Amino acid sequence: MSLYGEYDNQNIFAKIIRGEAPCYKVYEDEDVLAFLDLFPQSYGHTLVIPKRAAARNILEIDPENLGKVTAAVQKLARVIAEELEPAGVQIAQFNGAPAGQTVFHLHVHIIPRYDGEALGIHASAKADEDVLKALQARIQRRLGL
Ligand code: 5GP
Repeated sequence: MSLYGEYDNQNIFAKIIRGEAPCYKVYEDEDVLAFLDLFPQSYGHTLVIPKRAAARNILEIDPENLGKVTAAVQKLARVIAEELEPAGVQIAQFNGAPAGQTVFHLHVHIIPRYDGEALGIHASAKADEDVLKALQARIQRRLGL
C-alpha cells in the first residue's frame, strides 16, 4: 500500500476500534485507543490510534485528532517509562509500505528500549498472551485504572 489511497474500514485496527477483533487495551477515551502490540519489538511495545479519524497516515489525519493522539502518546510514554524502567523510549510512526507501514490506520508506536537489545522496525514473534495480560495489568494499574 502506498502513501495515497482509500481508507479500508476492514483493516485490523478499525476492527479493534469497533470491538470486532480483540486487543490488550491499556487506555481508551472518546478519541484514542492504546493497546499492546501483538508482535512486540520489546517488552511493553504499545500502539496508540485515533478512534474518530479514518486516516491511513499522518498526511491524512486532521490536526485536532493528531493532537489528541500525540497527547495520549506522551501520557502513555511517561507511564510506561515509570512502570517498566527502560533505558530509552522510542516513538515511531510509519507512512506508506516503503516506510515500513503494514497496517493502514494511523498509529504511533511506543517502544521501550532496553540496554543490550538490537533496534529493529518489525518483529516476527507473536507475544505470549500471559505476558501481554500481565503487562496490561501493570500499565493500567500505573494509570490508576
Ligand atoms: P506498522 O508497521 O504498520 O507501523 O505497525 C503495525 C503494528 O501492528 C506492528 O508492530 C504489528 O506487530 C502490529 N499488529 C499487527 N496486527 C496486529 C493485531 O492484530 N493486534 C495488535 N495488537 N497488533 C498488531
